[in-house]
Amino acid sequence: MEPSNSPVVDVRKNLAEVCRRVSAAAELAGRRGDAIDLVAISKFHGVEQIRLALDAGHRSFGENRVQEAQAKWPNLRDEFPDLVLHLVGPLQTNKAAAAVALFDVIQTIDRPKLAQAVVGHMAASGRRPNCMIQVNIGDEPQKAGISIAGLPELVAECTSGLGMPVVGLMCIPPAAEEPAPYFALLAKLAARHGLHQVSMGMSADYEAAIAFGATSVRVGSAIFGPRPSLGSAD
Ligand SMILES: *Cc1c(COP(=O)(O)O)cnc(C)c1O
Repeated sequence: MEPSNSPVVDVRKNLAEVCRRVSAAAELAGRRGDAIDLVAISKFHGVEQIRLALDAGHRSFGENRVQEAQAKWPNLRDEFPDLVLHLVGPLQTNKAAAAVALFDVIQTIDRPKLAQAVVGHMAASGRRPNCMIQVNIGDEPQKAGISIAGLPELVAECTSGLGMPVVGLMCIPPAAEEPAPYFALLAKLAARHGLHQVSMGMSADYEAAIAFGATSVRVGSAIFGPRPSLGSAD
């Protein structure tokens, strides 16, 4: 196959390399490589690029915007029924219905109103995507996520209060800092709440995240190449 706009980026090769490094990092941490979910973040990349990863056998993907995901994924879903699609970007309450309809995992629950809306749409649609609570681990004013202080109450409201299927915690550490202490902290918070999944680590630091207990890493540019234009840090 020689598409005229043949991608400069070799997605298949990048994916194989990231998979290899995920396995190596897991082994180093005394964990099984297949215990780590490599979520390929395909935001800003088109269906052609995504298809290269699907054709290589990859099935776990993430997007950060509901509308963009709606444009790219419904057809691919029909074609690859076993794919698992994660929402990793901030979710507005008015897009909760669309998110419940499309995603298998919503990683960015960060406030009671959003949790209520998501659970309401779960009841209405019969779909129950797994959820994670996003923690503003570096206490940054511009970043999404519940504060560390507010986490116990939000976990209780989501689980005991709403019966939401909360499986773990997610975070994006401050961009300019050494991430390891933040990774360690998120893993500790998840354990404290009896949550088994920990989503942390991106292209620059997924191996460190695995060393500190990530069960899910979110890797975009190391697989798909640089994004056409970078959005905000989150
Ligand atoms: C874009 C994005 C990623 C992937 O970032 P890379 O540095 O390209 O790997 C991970 N998590 C979230 C929430 C993102 O928005």
